[in-house]
Amino acid sequence: MSLLTKFERYPLTFGPTPIEHLPRLTEALGGDVEIYAKRDDCNSGLAMGGNKLRKLEYIVPDAIASGADTLVSIGGVQSNHTRMVAATAAKIGMKCVVIQEKWVPHYDAVYDRVGNIMMTRLMGADSRLVDDGFDIGIRKSWEDAIRSVEEAGGKPYAIPAGASVHKYGALGYIGFAEEVAEQEKELGFRFDYIVVCVVTGSTQGGMIVGFAAQDRADRVIGIDASGTPEQTRAQVRGIVDNTAELVGLGRAIREDEIVINNDYAYPAYGVPSEETNEAIRLAARTEAMITDPVYEGKSMQGMIDLTRKGFFPKGSRVLYAHLGGAPALNGYSYYYREG
Ligand SMILES: *Cc1c(COP(=O)(O)O)cnc(C)c1O
Repeated sequence: MSLLTKFERYPLTFGPTPIEHLPRLTEALGGDVEIYAKRDDCNSGLAMGGNKLRKLEYIVPDAIASGADTLVSIGGVQSNHTRMVAATAAKIGMKCVVIQEKWVPHYDAVYDRVGNIMMTRLMGADSRLVDDGFDIGIRKSWEDAIRSVEEAGGKPYAIPAGASVHKYGALGYIGFAEEVAEQEKELGFRFDYIVVCVVTGSTQGGMIVGFAAQDRADRVIGIDASGTPEQTRAQVRGIVDNTAELVGLGRAIREDEIVINNDYAYPAYGVPSEETNEAIRLAARTEAMITDPVYEGKSMQGMIDLTRKGFFPKGSRVLYAHLGGAPALNGYSYYYREG
């Protein structure tokens, strides 16, 4: 039975996302491990979609019930999350204020004008650039933005970075785990591992609770892209504890069920290594699957490296959770000027 039956969901996505076999990437990695992708990057018609919409589906009913007229949130300059909050606000007829901080030590002439931030502005959000650096926690600039909406006579509804440290932030990815189990029935096999990028934590956190109900949370391999792994792990821990309680999982999540690999976030959040860029190219050239230098390129790099290293036993089926993020590539065009 679903853990989510008692929670209201406001549909922002097309529904269950496709699972795609990746035969050419499988072959390029030696053929001993079968690679699949679950395409949450293709989950919606709203401003190119992505994982934040799955989370926001369980937050919107609360926002509407609160009587708010303005969604307020926070992210980096090329934040996928603030794009998705702006899209949600437009779709449900609310205003939107987003704080965009300088989370990334990356300099490109058009970084603050293309991709995510351009779409955010197009959808009518009030996008405010501020100078603060990377931090996945609760920020003063965000509290200031909430107050500014109140002072202007509006009624804000606050959504934290990545929609993660929100009571309902992890429910959407419990839904992902249940959806995978349904799709496995049709496929006639079960995945041995799920690979997922982790930064603010509610994507993996939701998966851990959802897959814990199927007794396989330790098969969710989080690939850290934050570069601040202790803070990310602590945030995932808090999210799984609160969420397990909220949905009535009936038991605590063990420490060994939270698996986060810290080997691929270097050199910093939002900055790709040469190995990240090689992973992005390989996925693009074998499967036309586009990943980004901030998030999915790093989890792709992790999956590729772990496969080559023999981390996944021969014959394993690995499901790569593609969470979106391609619009950010526009802010990094110089890296890829020759492909
Ligand atoms: C936000 C995001 C992530 C990280 O998800 P968290 O829930 O913040 O850990 C990964 N990939 C993409 C494309 C994202 O936008």
